[in-house]
Amino acid sequence: MPLTIVRNDITKMDCDAIVNAANNTLLGGGGVDGAIHRAAGPELLAECRTLGGCDTGRAKITNGYRLPAKYVIHTVGPIWQGGGHGERELLASCYRESLRLAVENGCKTVAFPLISAGVYGYPRAEALRVAMDTCSDFLMEHDMMIYIVVFDRGALLVSEKLFADIRSFVDDNYVERHEDNNRKRLFGLFGARKESAMPAAEAMHNAEAAKADFEECSMMAESAFHGAALPTSLVNAINQIDESFSQMLLRKIDEKGLTDAQCYKKANIDRKLFSKIRSDVNYKPKKITVIAFAAALELTIDETRDMLMKAGFALSHSSKFDIIIEYFISHGRYDIIEINEVLFEFDQPLIGG
Ligand code: ADP
Repeated sequence: MPLTIVRNDITKMDCDAIVNAANNTLLGGGGVDGAIHRAAGPELLAECRTLGGCDTGRAKITNGYRLPAKYVIHTVGPIWQGGGHGERELLASCYRESLRLAVENGCKTVAFPLISAGVYGYPRAEALRVAMDTCSDFLMEHDMMIYIVVFDRGALLVSEKLFADIRSFVDDNYVERHEDNNRKRLFGLFGARKESAMPAAEAMHNAEAAKADFEECSMMAESAFHGAALPTSLVNAINQIDESFSQMLLRKIDEKGLTDAQCYKKANIDRKLFSKIRSDVNYKPKKITVIAFAAALELTIDETRDMLMKAGFALSHSSKFDIIIEYFISHGRYDIIEINEVLFEFDQPLIGG
């Protein structure tokens, strides 16, 4: 997953570079700056003294010394003054300039804290948005693994309204254990204890459903043989029954008029993973990968279920992750950054691959 949010102490990140939310002097301070200097040791301050400070929105690089990271990129975020003083552009510039230095120094993995979102007062949700948008724009042109490291729990990372909407959607739909109406009906029919009646009842129900499907397919096949004109969409649907996940993905990319690169970048999928999927017709992806493609391709909820099924997965109401995904897809909201911000806020795995 080229861009991801993690909860961690940035000084522990084993990346090529970590980014420091420094001040203009570059001579150390509180917050993440203090933590980085403490973990890196006094040699870091000695090197910083030679740099002559740094302007807001710019960045400078040093060694990482005792840190697991090889480099520290020091950038100076804007102080929040209400949003009307160019704060957004300056903050975006911090991310861009840091990434430019990372590329120049051959870094492949970089971790950022939420710059300006501490003592400098930038609202956290907005600071995260700037971070995610700027990094994802950068990733359209570069191969890199970027971590946005969130340290503390506290103020929301998504808007209050979105958080409240999703929380009530989850509350309305979450079931401890999946119990659909058919099961309930069958328990009633058999009048037996749940545990013992269930397997037999369920097996019978499944057999009935399979029989009905089979009969429907036979009828369709028969009418096809007899020359009855089936609608093209139905013929396509029949042809697609045996399609694998990889075949469905490539077909959908074509249907949507996207290039492969547009699709996997939008899906937050790394190029190497996409090539594997492309070259292996029977590739078995992870669920988070399938969902990322479904969102990037803006599939409907039924198409999403279909694509998941081809990879052996389903969406269930006994999983918060699945309900959150269902919320976004069924509301036609396909912004992967937003989906991941919400998943992170709800302590769920992020989508991508
Ligand atoms: P700024 O002055 O740019 O606001 P701060 O250091 O005060 O910088 O805070 C920036 C962000 O870094 C805040 O969201 C804060 O919670 C976070 N932070 C503080 N310590 C760490 C740490 N050790 N690892 C990661 N993030 C941290």
